[in-house]
Amino acid sequence: MTRLILFDIDGTLLLTQGAGRESTRRAMTEVFGTAGDIDAHHFSGKTDWQTLSELLEGQHTREDIGAILPSYNETVGRHISAIISGFAVTPTPGALEAVNQLRARPDISLGVLTGNASRAAEVKLRAGGFDPAWFPAGAFGHEAFHRNDLPELAIQRARAHYGYDFPLSDIIIIGDTIMDIACARAAGVVAAVVLTGFETPAALEAAQPDAIFETLSEFAAWV
Ligand SMILES: [Mg+2]
Repeated sequence: MTRLILFDIDGTLLLTQGAGRESTRRAMTEVFGTAGDIDAHHFSGKTDWQTLSELLEGQHTREDIGAILPSYNETVGRHISAIISGFAVTPTPGALEAVNQLRARPDISLGVLTGNASRAAEVKLRAGGFDPAWFPAGAFGHEAFHRNDLPELAIQRARAHYGYDFPLSDIIIIGDTIMDIACARAAGVVAAVVLTGFETPAALEAAQPDAIFETLSEFAAWV
């Protein structure tokens, strides 16, 4: 008997201080010849597939972008690897300690559910002091257009990896935006948020998650 926790990355586990936006700009310019109006783009809670579709609207269809995403994943991973040391990537308050506490517990299994493409996700996690291997089940932003389609992938992979059929009521998605809450609701799992990211407390409260925490330290104590 174990519960599954699926962590969002940006604003939940860590903050990259702009490395995500800059690596997206470089990768898009390399692959598509433009990054559109990326300086005005709101990334919060969106998958990379959705972000690229919005920034390239009228130039590339969603389907065309989807076909390019496997190689874009490698390209954005290469760019963020090259620049990440120039950004002060920091875990959110208490995040490293919270994850270490949770992964030491036999009744808890861990994964990630993120809008980031997988290569960039790995680079961000390492830069924040997390080992990607601590989150053996994951779903990533190059694998679905809608964030709400990622939980099914993550849960399938968790079942395969851990060899356990987690009941939906024992699965928690922990994020920092209203899109994380909507994603948990769509999947029928527990919706939890922390206030360390990119949304105001009032906006998160209005979206009625099952639980709101100041930091991942409080979340780990609650779990
Ligand atoms: Mg986030």
